[in-house]
Amino acid sequence: MIHEWQLRVLPEQAYSEQSIKEYVSEEKGIPLREMTHVRVLKRSVDARQRRIFINLKVRVYQNEMPEDDAYTSTEYKDVSECAQAVVVGAGPAGLFAALRLIELGVRPVVIERGKDVRQRKKDLSAIARSHTVNPESNYCFGEGGAGAYSDGKLYTRSKKRGNAEKILNVFCQHGASTSILSDAHPHIGTDKLPRVIENMRNTIIKCGGEVRFQTRMTALLMSDRGNGCRRVEGVEAVYALPDGSDAEKEITLRGPVILATGHSARDVYRYLSDCKAELQAKGIAVGVRLEHPSMLIDQIQYHNRHGRGQYLPAAEYSFVTQVEGRGVYSFCMCPGGFVIPAATGAEQIVVNGMSPSNRGTQWSNSGMVVEIHPDDIDAMGLVSENGGEKTELRMMAFQEQLERLTWQQGNRRQTAPAQRMADFVNNRLSYDLPKSSYAPGIISSPLHFWMPQFIAKRLQDGFRMFGKRAHGFLTNEAVVIATETRTSSPVRILRDDETLQHTMIEGLYPCGEGAGYAGGIVSAGIDGERCAEKCAQYLGCGL
Ligand SMILES: Cc1cc2nc3c(=O)[nH]c(=O)nc-3n(C[C@H](O)[C@H](O)[C@H](O)COP(=O)(O)OP(=O)(O)OC[C@H]3O[C@@H](n4cnc5c(N)ncnc54)[C@H](O)[C@@H]3O)c2cc1C
Repeated sequence: MIHEWQLRVLPEQAYSEQSIKEYVSEEKGIPLREMTHVRVLKRSVDARQRRIFINLKVRVYQNEMPEDDAYTSTEYKDVSECAQAVVVGAGPAGLFAALRLIELGVRPVVIERGKDVRQRKKDLSAIARSHTVNPESNYCFGEGGAGAYSDGKLYTRSKKRGNAEKILNVFCQHGASTSILSDAHPHIGTDKLPRVIENMRNTIIKCGGEVRFQTRMTALLMSDRGNGCRRVEGVEAVYALPDGSDAEKEITLRGPVILATGHSARDVYRYLSDCKAELQAKGIAVGVRLEHPSMLIDQIQYHNRHGRGQYLPAAEYSFVTQVEGRGVYSFCMCPGGFVIPAATGAEQIVVNGMSPSNRGTQWSNSGMVVEIHPDDIDAMGLVSENGGEKTELRMMAFQEQLERLTWQQGNRRQTAPAQRMADFVNNRLSYDLPKSSYAPGIISSPLHFWMPQFIAKRLQDGFRMFGKRAHGFLTNEAVVIATETRTSSPVRILRDDETLQHTMIEGLYPCGEGAGYAGGIVSAGIDGERCAEKCAQYLGCGL
């Protein structure tokens, strides 16, 4: 017999399958020996009251075994002899696009400018060790994209629940824990993501697709269709020779193109702008990373001076307010995580955050950002004349300018300028700084003084409000680290709502976060799948 129940249990009762079985046996009167399996369908922490509860939805198998896997598998067929499409970028959008193409009978050729997910690691540690950023292999570029060495939080505000579930199930099929299907705030963790991504690549190759690393798209192959319209026939790319030299070789790949190059491929935006592809400046959010001792956040959120104890996860928070007409909010919180250097080139500092699967470090950080619209840039003269570029690229120019300013303030290395939180709010320079997880190091700097006032003032007011809402949050034990600029794409590559092709270029599918149609791993994956469906239709395959 199979039973489904909603349970409200204490953290220690939700800790393991055995402890849940014992609770069910006691509460529902089912003998332990008859309970063959318990599957947790939903799990969330309720920390609103002093006493913390875990809400569970469970399926209990009494005297029978589950027939199905804990996740739904997708069938991938052999596409080695099928029509071909080119996928540029092996981030979540590109990888999910490639897998969906395979489902629909199209052979994907994925090109990725960075290295495979394991080799990337050396370049990541070089950023901390020698302050060198490899422009082709870093926290944003390489197999898995910005999603690989990320936090791996898998929440989405997407209304299309079924689509999000498909993405989570594909992750499980490739090795992610099935707990992501039940947790209210699913999370894979940066230590577990690389293996999942490798498995996704292996599926693509096993089915007859290709994945080419260190291969950068340099141009689109286009033919003229008249009336100002063009058609994409493929891409031109260069790839690094495996002899370790700097030599590159050119290559041409044919097929419609899913362009999933992420929000940091500034050369791609410049190329599209030069080609007169329709683009639009897009609002972004910019600010800082705020890092607290995780114990302090646990104490505040769990209302307990002893912190989270043995059974609760590292505590999360989420704040949002309005200051002078613009949203100020926490973004991409990483409980028990690290602040990381996410620049993609020389002379820039960009911070972001990630956490391992156990969320076990002594710090908890989040982005604290202020919304900025393209009009704000125009109205405040926030971009200098030489940073002005073409109007559709002005938000990107603003990001670049701020990242360079931060690098200058950080001693022209990856050392990030930082200030204690209360000092920042009170316009005081910090004489010393707390220990931070940011590996390249932090340096005391008056952020309140040199950051654009549009941002600094709003952050200060926002922090005051958040400090009132959560006693102890506004504290000098926390440190504000500059600058978080890459929260979303500064450009939208315009596409037709129906065909998902670029408005003026047939056969080109701007996709994922870089195209301005997704924000986060799951929504980028969903958009990848949608673009793959339209691309397969264009080729006369699939649906
Ligand atoms: C440190 C960090 C932590 C994050 N944490 C989370 C999180 O916990 N949860 C979440 O939902 N989101 C998180 N994000 C955001 C998330 O990673 C992105 O939203 C997501 O990766 C976007 O997917 P994408 O495929 O559209 O683009 P990307 O992941 O940016 O992938 C684009 C890929 O295209 C490649 N590329 C670019 N130009 C070219 C070219 N010319 N030729 C060939 N290849 C090219 C790049 O190398 C890159 O691999 C995080 C981001 C970072 C940086």
